[in-house]
Amino acid sequence: MDEKKIIFACEEHIEIALDDFVNLEEKAPQMIKLPETENKKCNYCNNKSEYELLH
Ligand SMILES: [Zn+2]
Repeated sequence: MDEKKIIFACEEHIEIALDDFVNLEEKAPQMIKLPETENKKCNYCNNKSEYELLH
């Protein structure tokens, strides 16, 4: 069970993403601010994501 699930979230959804992560993994994620050049979509909407959550 150490499959790396990365959650991307924008400013608006980062709290939901953190909750989801903790619910799924039962531990706190590593929250990483994405650089401006990174162009990933939020998992919860179509905005550009600001953060990624890692194990
Ligand atoms: Zn979002």
